[in-house]
Amino acid sequence: MAGGWARDGAVSEQIEASISDELARMQAQKRPVGESLTHCAECEEPIPEKRRLALPGVKLCLDCQQERDSSFKTRGGIDRRGSKDSQLK
Ligand SMILES: [Zn+2]
Repeated sequence: MAGGWARDGAVSEQIEASISDELARMQAQKRPVGESLTHCAECEEPIPEKRRLALPGVKLCLDCQQERDSSFKTRGGIDRRGSKDSQLK
């Protein structure tokens, strides 16, 4: 493309914007806002009230949430790199 030098800044700004977009979306997925459950959606253990107040819309007990978080991070990292690649192309 002509004017490649001038475009570099704009392109990286666009990429940064889409990354923070993505981060915001990921955070929204991680913390669903809605009704907190009194019992875990996975194992049906009661969720402590403190936890329900601290995390609006919480659906999992601490154990299940930690399990999900660790698998989410692993998968999320791969997904993020994949979509970033396609944006760069
Ligand atoms: Zn659970």
